[in-house]
Amino acid sequence: MNEIRSNLDGQAHWRSALMDNYGTPGLTLVRGEGARVWDADGREYVDLLGGIAVNALGHAHPEVVRAVTEQIATMGHISNLYINPVAVEFAEALLDVAGLAGHGDGEAKGRVLFVNSGAEANEAALKITRRTGRTKVIACEGAFHGRTMGALALTGQPSKREPFEPLVPGVVHVPFGDVDALSSVVDSDTAAVVLEPILGEAGVIPAPDGYLQAAREITRRAGAMLVLDEVQTGFARTGVWFAFQRAGIMPDVITLAKGLGGGLPLGAVIGVGEAGDLLKPGQHGTTFGGNPVCCAAGLAVLRAIARDNLNDHVAALGKDISNGVEELRHPLVSGVRGAGLLIGITLREAVAPAVAKAVERAGYLVNPVAPDAIRLAPPLILTHEQAEGFLDALPAALDSAKKGE
Ligand SMILES: *Cc1c(COP(=O)(O)O)cnc(C)c1O
Repeated sequence: MNEIRSNLDGQAHWRSALMDNYGTPGLTLVRGEGARVWDADGREYVDLLGGIAVNALGHAHPEVVRAVTEQIATMGHISNLYINPVAVEFAEALLDVAGLAGHGDGEAKGRVLFVNSGAEANEAALKITRRTGRTKVIACEGAFHGRTMGALALTGQPSKREPFEPLVPGVVHVPFGDVDALSSVVDSDTAAVVLEPILGEAGVIPAPDGYLQAAREITRRAGAMLVLDEVQTGFARTGVWFAFQRAGIMPDVITLAKGLGGGLPLGAVIGVGEAGDLLKPGQHGTTFGGNPVCCAAGLAVLRAIARDNLNDHVAALGKDISNGVEELRHPLVSGVRGAGLLIGITLREAVAPAVAKAVERAGYLVNPVAPDAIRLAPPLILTHEQAEGFLDALPAALDSAKKGE
């Protein structure tokens, strides 16, 4: 039996058994349903972070529960030494929503490699770029691509990189959103440019209009690949299946994770055209990648998003939340940015942790993603009513954070 009976209890057990790399969180969450979660003290919250943009259908969604339960009872794991029909089906469905399906008239226009996390997806993407024969890779300052050594080499945040250097060589960082800076470094030695359509971990900072299109053109001219890290923005998070579709471009490589498995650990790399053919047998692998249980969950999520038009819901609700925050005209709020249900609320003072605490006391979980920015990445099934509850609670929380409570 679990001995944890309160949040305080949870902290004591965590401190003694878990490494300190996350610090000690304040809440122990024990149960979830839809967009709601309950802590070990029995308090209820509306979860506006969704496990960091992961729980697309919220917690304990009946269709995910059924898919996972049936799959684990049928066949839980087989490795990639055998064909796993669930992974094949999910790959075909993913290519379809990405606009890359073959539709029966021959081969698909892209290929999928399943992995287990965002970092692992970017590691695989980096290995794919090496197969071009070029080794120079361009990424952006402030960008986040994961914590493993290759993904960390792409990550443009010195505080996360420096304790672990030397990292994988060959990566050059340029300011995000600056077309001239990008075009000045991309040359005939450049294997790839790796970009987030919206910087997620850096504080929900969308690429300026035209930037992704310019990056597509610059890489095309240099014969370099454009790798879009859609680990956070992909799979309906921003009100379209993938952010590249809103930009009207087609990248060479797309990396996915976070929401892809609906709460189960699953990542994917989509290689478009030739980029999908660069890894040859024996060059890369993962024991768990494409695990049937995770793929069954992903397939259930994909079908629910398509059937329930969740992209439209996400786009509309995201606009309502953004407008609602702006209409508060609160002196502490300087702006709202993002797309769909990936929203950054920017503050005039570096009090985001205090705002998150105050909001939590009011029954809402949000993320102080930067000292002066709050991130919302709720389940895509968040209701208008739940969003309105948050907007009603926000002014008092902002007031109390401003007063230093
Ligand atoms: C979260 C994130 C990653 C890393 O994903 P993990 O599953 O934590 O390894 C990579 N890229 C982006 C854009 C992310 O948001």
